[in-house]
Amino acid sequence: MAELTNDFSWSVSRDQMFRSCQRAYYYHYYASWGGWSDDASEQTRKLYTLKNMKTLEMWAGSVVHETIAEALRRYAHDQSEIRTGELQARARSKLRKGWMEAVNREWIRQPKKNNLQELYYGNGKSLPKEKTDAVREIVYGSLQTFTESDVLQEILAAPQMSWKPVDQLDTFELNGTKVWCAIDFAFTDPAGRLTIIDWKTGKKESDAIREQLACYAYFACDKWQVSCENMRLLGVFLQHDPAPKWYNLTEADLFEAQNAILESAAAMRTKLADVENNTPQPESAFPTIDNERVCRKCKFREVCPQMNGAET
Ligand code: SF4
Repeated sequence: MAELTNDFSWSVSRDQMFRSCQRAYYYHYYASWGGWSDDASEQTRKLYTLKNMKTLEMWAGSVVHETIAEALRRYAHDQSEIRTGELQARARSKLRKGWMEAVNREWIRQPKKNNLQELYYGNGKSLPKEKTDAVREIVYGSLQTFTESDVLQEILAAPQMSWKPVDQLDTFELNGTKVWCAIDFAFTDPAGRLTIIDWKTGKKESDAIREQLACYAYFACDKWQVSCENMRLLGVFLQHDPAPKWYNLTEADLFEAQNAILESAAAMRTKLADVENNTPQPESAFPTIDNERVCRKCKFREVCPQMNGAET
């Protein structure tokens, strides 16, 4: 098997981390690289463990996304009915499995197993009931909103030939930079417009969604040769409102998004000692931040000097 290499690429989440804290970015994208190997140093293995952790909110979101994607794939395969109770039952067993992986610390041997930040930095065994109740509420409530939404009816009414692959990680090239994106769902509506859907389990509004949708639109133009006028972009905020929120993007917005991606990638590259091999400068070139609110919730706080009173 070819040796894995840490190649430079861009994604919305990478950009968000770079802008939030460069030290966290360094830990996540560089210092943890190779931490899955038995030969890795203790520090690299630790950073790899921390990198793979999820917050409860992220975990709830990933269970919802997985359950929805599986339901749509089953429907595509054999027209299996999409019912709230069944989706919630499937999500319940995912939650149970994920919870056991976390409390049994299965991630020590298999780092991709579920590792929850709140447990890791807590007592490792339990969480206050209101926190676990909140996870269940997000998951069950979001799935109910999904099954009762008009958007789902529109999807199911569309011929399956018009469906694009469900929730698949893919890339496109932008001036030589690989850009990652995973569209939750896309299909061509009866009027011939490509409809791109983003299921959201988090806050109703954020700047990130426009950035993310612009990235999807760019991907769609590149992959499926669709123009902006022939595209509908919608965010469905499953926790709050089944009515989708439409986002209009013009060619000018796409141009702006393209420039923002290129500028962001260029800023990331200034932190490399060897651009061709994606070798970072030393850790000290990636400053820590002085923001108690952000640091208190950071997955790397166990190792970060900012939280341990050491020189940064
Ligand atoms: S603890 Fe704060 S400074 Fe350290 S990596 Fe996390 S966000 Fe950055």
